[in-house]
Amino acid sequence: MNSKIWLSSPHMGGNELKYIHEAFDQNWVAPLGPNVDGFEKDLAQFLGENVNVAALSAGTAALHLALIILGVKQDDEVICQSFTFSASANPITYVGAKPVFIDSEPETWNMCPEALEEAIKDRTAKGKKPKAIIVVHLYGMPAKLDEITAIAAKYEIPLIEDAAEALGSTYKGQKCGTFGEMSVLSFNGNKIITTSGGGALVCRNLEQKNKAVFLSTQARDNAPHYQHSEIGYNYRMSNISAGIGRGQMEVLSQRVEARRKNHEFYIELFRNIEGVTVFTEPGADFYSNRWLSAVIIRPEIAGFTREDLRLKFLEDDIESRPLWKPMHLQPVFADAPYYGKKVAEELFENGLCLPSGSNLTDEERTRIKEALSALIR
Ligand SMILES: *Cc1c(COP(=O)(O)O)cnc(C)c1O
Repeated sequence: MNSKIWLSSPHMGGNELKYIHEAFDQNWVAPLGPNVDGFEKDLAQFLGENVNVAALSAGTAALHLALIILGVKQDDEVICQSFTFSASANPITYVGAKPVFIDSEPETWNMCPEALEEAIKDRTAKGKKPKAIIVVHLYGMPAKLDEITAIAAKYEIPLIEDAAEALGSTYKGQKCGTFGEMSVLSFNGNKIITTSGGGALVCRNLEQKNKAVFLSTQARDNAPHYQHSEIGYNYRMSNISAGIGRGQMEVLSQRVEARRKNHEFYIELFRNIEGVTVFTEPGADFYSNRWLSAVIIRPEIAGFTREDLRLKFLEDDIESRPLWKPMHLQPVFADAPYYGKKVAEELFENGLCLPSGSNLTDEERTRIKEALSALIR
C-alpha cells in the first residue's frame, strides 16, 4: 500500500527542536520570549527593506490587525482580490466593513490593475471611497506590483499585501511582503515554511509594530493593574511556535529551491501533452517561490478535464485540488460588489493544484507520472 502524496505538507529542517528545547529549559512556554524576538529578527533580516515584524497566531489575525491599524471601520469598503483563499477577505467583515471584489488578470492570476482602477472610480463616485486594497500573491506568484502600487498611490489608498503564500518570492528583485503599507505572512502547516500555525504582520515602522503587539496581547495600558482603553485580542505567537519558525528560517532558501524543482518536474511531465499549461512567471521581473505548482487544462484540446485528472490522482492516493473558488462566487459574499470579467472564474473551472511539497520524493514523482500516463491511455 502506497502512502498518501500530499499537496503540501510540513517539512522540518532539523534545528526546530533545538529552539523548542531552549524554550523548555528556560521555561519560556508562553506567547512571548526569546524565540518570538529571534523569529521576528530572522524575518526582518530576510525581508530587508527596513521592516518591523510582529509574530502572531495566524496570517488571518495579521490581516485583521492590519485593517484595524489602518483605521478601517464599520460600513467602510475594502477592495480585495476575488481569486484567493477566504482568509484574505474574512477579516474585512471582522471590522464590520464590506468587501469589494476584483477579478484577476491572466498572467499572474492576481489582481487586475484595470479592474482595480475601475472599481476605485466607481465606488468613489458612489460616495464610498475604499479604505484599503488587499492584493494577494497566489501560489507564490507576485502580482503586477508596479501597476497596483501606482494605482494605490494615485488614489491615496493604503495597500495591504497578503503575502501568506509568497515568502521567498520577489518582484524586480524586491521581496514580496515589503511592498504594502502593511503585509501579511502565514506559517500554517501547508505553507512554504510552518510554525505549526502562525502568521506575521510586516510593518513599515516601529510604531505600527508596537501597535500590533499591543493589540495582539489584549491591549493592556501601561499600569500595574489590568487597565484597558481599547479592545484587545489574543493574537500573539507562542514562544514554542516561534522556535519552530527559527529552525524553518534556516532552511527557507532550500525550501524555495525544492518547490521550484517541482515546477520543473511538472513542466517536463506535461511538455508533450497538448491543452495543459503549467502556471509559470510571465517574465524576468517575477520570481515565484512556486509554493504550489498548478496547471490549466483545456478539456477540448487535452481530452480530459481537471476533474478527470483530480479523480485519477485520488484513486492512487495523490492529493490535488481545484484552484481557489473566487470570493464573488461564494455564497457568503453573494451581495458584495464585483469588478472584472471571468478570468478568475475560468481559472477555477479549469485549474488544478498539484503535489508541491518540498519533501516530495523521486518515488512519489514516479507515481504521479504513472497516474497521468494511466489517464492518458
Ligand atoms: C494561508 C493563507 C492565509 C491565512 O493564513 P493563516 O495563517 O492560515 O491564518 C491568508 N491568505 C492566503 C492567501 C493564504 O493562503
